[in-house]
Amino acid sequence: MVEAAKEILEGAYDLHVHSAPDVVERRLDDIGLAREARKWGMAGLVIKNHIFETASRASIARRVVEDMKIHGGIVLNYTVGGLNPHAVEACLELGGKVVWMPTIDARNHKTKTGRRGGISLLNEKGRLREPVGQILELIKKRGAVLATGHLSLVEIRALVSEAKAMGVQKIVLTHPEFWITRIPIEAQKELVRKGVFIERCYYSCTLKGQNRIAPEELAHQIREVGPAATILASDLGQKDNPPPPEGLKNMVEELLQRGLKKQALVTMLRNNPRDILD
Ligand SMILES: [Zn+2]
Repeated sequence: MVEAAKEILEGAYDLHVHSAPDVVERRLDDIGLAREARKWGMAGLVIKNHIFETASRASIARRVVEDMKIHGGIVLNYTVGGLNPHAVEACLELGGKVVWMPTIDARNHKTKTGRRGGISLLNEKGRLREPVGQILELIKKRGAVLATGHLSLVEIRALVSEAKAMGVQKIVLTHPEFWITRIPIEAQKELVRKGVFIERCYYSCTLKGQNRIAPEELAHQIREVGPAATILASDLGQKDNPPPPEGLKNMVEELLQRGLKKQALVTMLRNNPRDILD
């Protein structure tokens, strides 16, 4: 299994990974992460950060660590002004590849963690707020990836409908197995039918207690929606977890042990992420 997992990691991408600098301690910094990924033969990374854009950091990491496609993006939390088209435009101008909707500052995230407030995509009438349309226009123009972050299912449905109507090509549903963004399988399938990719992150399997997802459940959900519509990512970088590329290797081993085929894993780690980035 270990050898097979290592082979699958060659040429793999991790489109959701956390590194320093950050306001919380991270296992590796951008350069360290890129070097580690190269050691495993990986092809590319997208650095995610909840507070600021990462496209500028990625461009420096690319210069230091050659032969790695290191990219960044922006998460639309309060620190960048929330649903702020100016911040999105600048990030994409810097070469950013992914625009994530609000995560830790999403109203859904605040509610699920017992707090008030937070950013909602919808106004009092249940319609998408105005900046969302401007942001989608920028994403479309640049061919960037729209990722759903930590939104609720109601917001996600409204966002995906509008994005599809406007001609946004690349949409990723962010880790629907994670407890804060958990979405029923039937709703996941409905989004897949609209052309949305489903991202599965190993992070949920590393949690302790009732929020943890067993690898069996991860494998089950992958089978249900199908590898053709799935992207695997680590969402690692936490100081107590293994370095993200090693975590990704562990994820592959767990899924191989639960009967997923090598070709399916190659599709989810190599082909689908590559296609969505290019
Ligand atoms: Zn993350």
